[in-house]
This record gives sequence, structure tokens and C-alpha cells, in this order.
Amino acid sequence: MAVIPFRKQPDPWSFEPVRSSATLSSRIVDEVREALFDKRLKAGDFLGTEKDLAERAGASRIVARDALRTLQALGVVEIKVGSGGGARIAGGNPALFAEALAVQLTLAGISVREMMDAQRAIEITAAELAAENATPEDLLKLRDLLAEHEATIDDSAAYTRSCMRFHLAVAEASHNRVLVAQLLSLQHVSWPAQNRTLTDPVARHILEVHRQLVDVIESRDAAAARRLMDDHVRMIRARRVSEDQADAPHCC
Ligand SMILES: [Zn+2]
Repeated sequence: MAVIPFRKQPDPWSFEPVRSSATLSSRIVDEVREALFDKRLKAGDFLGTEKDLAERAGASRIVARDALRTLQALGVVEIKVGSGGGARIAGGNPALFAEALAVQLTLAGISVREMMDAQRAIEITAAELAAENATPEDLLKLRDLLAEHEATIDDSAAYTRSCMRFHLAVAEASHNRVLVAQLLSLQHVSWPAQNRTLTDPVARHILEVHRQLVDVIESRDAAAARRLMDDHVRMIRARRVSEDQADAPHCC
């Protein structure tokens, strides 16, 4: 089967000589992915139709279709059918794949401690950057969420959801989309739907900490935002670890 050697081609992406026993379909997927990471391809670039891809790869249309389906499932391409259709490099949807990562973390049996340590690293940096980068709209959103906290403080489930949105809003105010996607992913795994250790004093303490966080973000005090978030996530970590231990099966 003819294979187009990549480096002899002027195209932004093509096919290297056979390197392994991988199927041609998975090699097409690899080459497109590598071209993306090397910035030879970017969001919006047109890859062509299934027929074009088959011709370029020297493969059958079945192989090209299989590769395109995999690339679509990976979120790398968007496929439009019909006349004028074909595959195009996708615009990217980190939120969607944050959920996919959450599924994988759950399947891998990630411990509460591992998750909370990662969450702490992400949220400390997010709070620091929020103090540097928050816009007036971000601050308005954070203040609205504080009002929502007050309105829902007697409803444990609603209050928990409001708190989750608050932490995500702090990450969004950092204007770092990597941090947002990572936090979103961890929230899928670690944020409880029902917060069993949420007593009234704990809820009021959280509200007070969130208020202080918004104040220091608004006053652009990055060091204080970092410190406050660090203490806060340590507290959350301690509660989650104790909840996890309470769930553990007892022996003897
Ligand atoms: Zn909080």
C-alpha cells in the first residue's frame, strides 16, 4: 500500500513511512494529531472529504472513515455531511473533555487525597491569577454568587451547588482556561451532590471565607487571595478525607 512520505510533501500534514505495526487508520489519527501539536494544523483547517483522505493516505475509504470517526470521537475534527461537506479541525471544547477526564479519573480509582491535593494546586493558582486578572464582569458574577449563597444557606444541596459555581467562577476570573478545564474535571469527581458534613456553622464559615476571597480579588491582593484559598481548600480537603474514611468499610 502506497504511503506518502511526510517530509517530501509541501502539505501541512501527511504520512510518514511505516514506523510500526499500527493499523493505517490509527496512523492517520496519529499524523493528524501530531500535525495539530506541531501547529501545522489549527482549528478550522479543512482536512477534506473521506475520499480525499483515503487518496492522500493511499488507503481505502473504509480506513479513512474509521480514522475520521476516531478523530471525531477525540474531538479533533468536526464532520459535515452532504455537498460541500468534509472534515474540519474542531474549535476545541475543553469543558466536554473535562468530563471525559473525570470519567477516566474515576475509573482509575483516584483517591480523595490525590484529587484534593491537585485541586489545591489548581485553586491556589486560580485565586492568585483572579486577583491579577479579574474583570468588572467577573467581580459582578462573584458578588452575585455570594448573594446566591445567602439565599440558599438553609438548603444544603442548593448551597453546595452554589459553592461549586463560586469556585469555578474564581477559576474563570483567572482567565486561564487550562485551570478552568482542570478544576471542572476535578469538580465532576470530587464535589459531593449532598454535603453531609455541612452544618450551619460550617456553611456560615464558608460564606465568610468566600466574601473575604472576593474582597481580596477585588483589591488585587494576589498574595492574600492565594493564602486564603490555600487555607480554604485545606479545610475542604480535611472534610472530604474524613467523609471518605467514614464511608470506608470497617473491619474487625
Ligand atoms: Zn469554598
